[in-house]
Amino acid sequence: MYRYPLTIPGPKSCASTDPASAGAFAVLLRACRCRLEPRADTNRNLFGFADGRRWVWNACVAWAAEAELATRSAGARRAPESAFSLACLSRLLDQWAAENPWLKRAPKQLLQQSLHDFIKARRAFLTGAVPRPPRFQKARDAIPTMRFPQHARLNQDAVFLPKLGWIKYRNSFNGGRGVPSGELRSATVKFEDGHWFVSLLLQQAKPAAAAAPLAALGIDYGVKNTLALSSRVVLQAPLMTDAEEYRILFLERRVVRCAADSNRRALAQRRLNRFRSRISRRIHDWRHKTTTTLSKNHGLIAVEALALQNMTASARGTVEAPGTNAARKAGLNRALLEPGFGIIRQQIAYKQATRGHAFIQVNPAHTSQTCPECGHIHADNRPDRDHFRCVCCGHADDADFAGARNVLRRAQLQSLQSLAELPETVLAAGHGRDCAPAAKAARAHRGSHPRTNPLLTPRGGSKGNPGPEGPGGCQNHQGETPFDPENPADMLVRAMVIADAAETSS
Ligand SMILES: [Zn+2]
Repeated sequence: MYRYPLTIPGPKSCASTDPASAGAFAVLLRACRCRLEPRADTNRNLFGFADGRRWVWNACVAWAAEAELATRSAGARRAPESAFSLACLSRLLDQWAAENPWLKRAPKQLLQQSLHDFIKARRAFLTGAVPRPPRFQKARDAIPTMRFPQHARLNQDAVFLPKLGWIKYRNSFNGGRGVPSGELRSATVKFEDGHWFVSLLLQQAKPAAAAAPLAALGIDYGVKNTLALSSRVVLQAPLMTDAEEYRILFLERRVVRCAADSNRRALAQRRLNRFRSRISRRIHDWRHKTTTTLSKNHGLIAVEALALQNMTASARGTVEAPGTNAARKAGLNRALLEPGFGIIRQQIAYKQATRGHAFIQVNPAHTSQTCPECGHIHADNRPDRDHFRCVCCGHADDADFAGARNVLRRAQLQSLQSLAELPETVLAAGHGRDCAPAAKAARAHRGSHPRTNPLLTPRGGSKGNPGPEGPGGCQNHQGETPFDPENPADMLVRAMVIADAAETSS
């Protein structure tokens, strides 16, 4: 069973102390996906309903073609829109059902959805959103899917669907012992990889913010270590093994060696798809379990705001100006995309939101080159991919852990900054009470440094770093009292020094 976000309510970061936004979203919609285990007769009925939906869609396409033809032979340019209104199509549906009694076996709400789908697809074509008008669906290509917006019910073992009765499902809510809380709004059934799945849309009350403060966590994404945590833990995704990669190549070869459009080819393609989706389900499962555990135990989670779409752009270039190292970049792209960092980030965001915890994305610039101890930024701080050694203070660490600590520090700075921007009255009213001294320090600092903080505003073309002799680095605070990470004000001032160093370097 998997849960996806539909609405991510409320603010995403520590800025949730803003009283205006509190309570703006009292409910939230959650979707949970479970595998169904239908009996043989229910299985037949499900396919029958899907066939009915497809039949109605195809009838609509045929009706549209006829209408267009009739209009053109009458000399007009386009059939009147009233011919495609829901009222008109509904009347046609009644007529079709009277002529084909087998259609009446399916719930009417499912068949009406085909009409809605058709109207939507046609409108998308007319407005230019899609290049082609709705076309006939072949039985072989169509994915059997149907939505039950009404009369679906749920208990611990089974889900009730109209005209199908109770269907057993694989319950993993609360380890198979519970029923998901909330009101069931709709159930969508879909056939995928040889199994039926149901997506349940649940409306839940938004939980109150966590009472006890939980630990804060910074996360560094990586190719070698999937997730490196600032708490010095490495989490590895169960990615594709070499043997699995070899098997995929083997199955792909079998597909291309079969004659096009043959049954053998369809079978080989199904085998390949099934094998691929087994691997992706395993990674998907790991992502959900990992992000749930992290979210349960951390009041604040910070990640880098990586622009994955830009980072994974192909290096192939054009025919006139071919790119260099295209194959190597393709390998890196695969490594970056395979664990699904974008999905991990999305899952952490909504899981934190549903628990009332904080989630912050920070600017990723220089997180791998900044010293987490003294804040010195230099490319030489990374002698190789796996190690970090500060050229200023000599601090040595694993490169990924240093990155995770930097991410966490930036997030804490960011949340303190958002506190500093709150008006005095809010702080006096008790919001962000614990951070009040730090917020005061932040405001004082803002007075003396009116420039915007470069770590909070992404900037383009920042490549220069201060050398050891440059104006930045740890010279700024030599001879100061020792840094106390428990003191938010101390931490803030130190972070400001890092920010200033980054700014002077750009
Ligand atoms: Zn250092």
